[in-house]
Amino acid sequence: MRLAFFGAEGKVGRALVPVLEAAGHEVRGIELGDDPDVSGCDAAVDFTTPDAAPANVRAALEQGVSCVVGTTGWDPAELGALAAEKGLRLFVAPNFSTGAVLMMRFAREAAEHFPRAEVIELHNEAKKDAPSGTAKATAAAIGGNTTIHSVRLPGLVAHQEVIFGGDGQLLTIRHDTTGRESFADGVLLALTKLDELPPGLTTGLDTLLS
Ligand code: NAP
Repeated sequence: MRLAFFGAEGKVGRALVPVLEAAGHEVRGIELGDDPDVSGCDAAVDFTTPDAAPANVRAALEQGVSCVVGTTGWDPAELGALAAEKGLRLFVAPNFSTGAVLMMRFAREAAEHFPRAEVIELHNEAKKDAPSGTAKATAAAIGGNTTIHSVRLPGLVAHQEVIFGGDGQLLTIRHDTTGRESFADGVLLALTKLDELPPGLTTGLDTLLS
């Protein structure tokens, strides 16, 4: 596919662009201050900032190009409606790591069999928000009053443990992200399935994993 990549020079962009190119995609990087010209592209990918992503997505949709977005911290509902109006797709996932998404799926299943769980999320000290979006989504999937513990330390990348407690037994589900390449499989999957999605907004990588 011919891809426009908003934020190609960012931390995620620098890890993903070589993987997308190695998979056979042609990538046009678009940075802050560049004209958001996606003409001739089959899809646009955005890993920028919550302030920048809505304008980038709007520009792509206005040019008739569907979008895959990893930028977190913004509400895609309005642009999902615009995509539906135009018969285009807007796919947004707060976590493109297949392992993290499977961890949430397994946690939802385990929650049916254990009375209590707590989530421990551990990230590098550079991460400003706490708890992480993935930890909040996991706690919501488990239900009840699931406590989240947040750890911010140098040396960590992105890790999460979900500990389930029951009578005489514990179950721990753990996922470790050791590099930003972990998001590549999810982005490639979303690009492969983009045209099969219904027009409008689709959220969450879980919807694409069989
Ligand atoms: P980052 O290193 O700050 O990269 C953001 C990049 O976007 C920078 O190169 C920035 O350029 C560029 N940018 C800013 N405004 C732009 C615009 N209007 N048009 C085009 N490019 C623009 O951040 P990151 O770590 O790569 O993360 C990017 C986003 O992805 C964040 O929202 C993060 O939370 C999210 N994320 C999502 C997932 C997921 O799985 N869904 C995983 C990791 C991260 P300048 O440096 O010039 O400002």
